[in-house]
Amino acid sequence: MTKINKLTKDILSAIRESIGTDPQPLHAPSFSLTEINYLSECIESTYVSSVGSFVGKFERMLADYTGAKYAIATVNGTAALHVALKIVGVSKNDEVLIPALTFIATANAVSYCNAIPHFVEAESESMGIDVKKLRSYLHNISEIKNGECINRITNRRIKAIVPMHTFGHPSNLDDLLKLCDEFQIVLVEDAAESLGSLYKDRHTGTFGAVGTLSFNGNKILTTGGGGAILTNSLELATQARHLTTTGKLPHKWEFNHDVVGFNYRMPNLNAALGCAQMEKITNFIELKRDLFCRYNESFSNIKGVALIREPKECRSNYWLQTLVLDQEYAHLRDEILRETNNVGLMTRPAWSILSNSIPYAGSPKMDLVFTKTLASRIINIPSSPNLMSASI
Ligand SMILES: *Cc1c(COP(=O)(O)O)cnc(C)c1O
Repeated sequence: MTKINKLTKDILSAIRESIGTDPQPLHAPSFSLTEINYLSECIESTYVSSVGSFVGKFERMLADYTGAKYAIATVNGTAALHVALKIVGVSKNDEVLIPALTFIATANAVSYCNAIPHFVEAESESMGIDVKKLRSYLHNISEIKNGECINRITNRRIKAIVPMHTFGHPSNLDDLLKLCDEFQIVLVEDAAESLGSLYKDRHTGTFGAVGTLSFNGNKILTTGGGGAILTNSLELATQARHLTTTGKLPHKWEFNHDVVGFNYRMPNLNAALGCAQMEKITNFIELKRDLFCRYNESFSNIKGVALIREPKECRSNYWLQTLVLDQEYAHLRDEILRETNNVGLMTRPAWSILSNSIPYAGSPKMDLVFTKTLASRIINIPSSPNLMSASI
C-alpha cells in the first residue's frame, strides 16, 4: 500500500468540509421549470432552427447584461472566435498572440483563419497574459511598419491578440489595451469562461474590438452548445451576423450570397434554453462567490496550496474554483487528482500547454517558463452553482 501525503489528505478534507462527502462532478448545469417551459414553447412554435423569437431575445438579454451594444449568438464558442478573428481582419499567414495556457479552441480558431498562433507567457494573479513580459518581448522581436506590427524573425504581420480570462478571472485589460495601442494590434477577448466577470466594473468581453462567449454544457450558463460574439461596432456586428448566416443577402424568398459564409447561427431551441438560463445568471454568480468563500475558509489553514481569488479591481464569476500548489508540492498533483477522483469528488488538472501539443508544436512562442510551472500546479475542484445549498 502506498502512503498518502499529508497535503493530499488535507486538501481532500478541506473539499469535504466545504461541500460534503457526496460525489460531485467538476461542474454541472442547473435547470428548473423555466427551461422546460421555454423549450416547450419553442417546440410548439415549430421554429426550432435559427429562425425564431428566442434567438433575438437571447441576444438582447446578453447585450443588456454585458453592456455590449451588439450580441450575435452562434453554434458554439469556437465558431464565435473564428468569426471574431475574421471580421477584425485576421487572414492567411498573420500571427495572433494567444496564451499558451488556454483551451485548444483559442488556437484552433486562429488556424481556421489560416493564421498562426504565437504563444505568450502567463502571470500569477489572473493566470492570463503577462503584459509586462510581452511588451519587452515585442520590443525585441517586432517593428511597426506602415501602421502594422511585423514580427522581424518570421516577417509575418502580428494582427491580433486574444487574452483569455482563465476560469473566470479577468486578465489585465487596461495594460492590454495600452499594449495594443502601442503595437497596433487588435484586441479580441476570449471571454468563453468569464460571462459575468467584471474588470473595473465593466464586463469582460466588451473591452476588445470583439469579445466572444461560450455556452457549452460545463460553462457558467449553458445553451447545450452555443456561443456569442459581443461588439460595440455596428459595422463589425453586421459582418458577424452576415458571416454566421451563410452570407445570405436578405430577401423574402431568393437565395443569393456575396461571400463564403458559415452556418454558425444559434438554433432557436438552444436560445430558448439560454433565455431561461440568463434569468438566473445573477443568482449563479452569487452562489459561486459563496462557494469560493466556503472553500476559502476551509483552505485558509492549509500550507502548500493557494485557492485563487479574483484579481485586484475585478469581480470574478468564479466559474471554476482553482487550487495552485506551491512549487515544492508540485509533484503531489497527480496523487491529489487520483485521491479526490477516487472518492467521486471530480478534480481536473489545467490543459496541457498548447506549445507542447501536436498541432502547435512548431508555432512561434516567447519564453514560457512561468506558464510551464503554473500549468503543472493547477487543480480545479468541484464548482457547480448548486453545491452551496446541497451542503447546508
Ligand atoms: C469553452 C471555451 C471555448 C469555446 O468552446 P466551445 O465548446 O466551442 O463553446 C473557447 N475558449 C475557451 C478558453 C473555453 O474555455
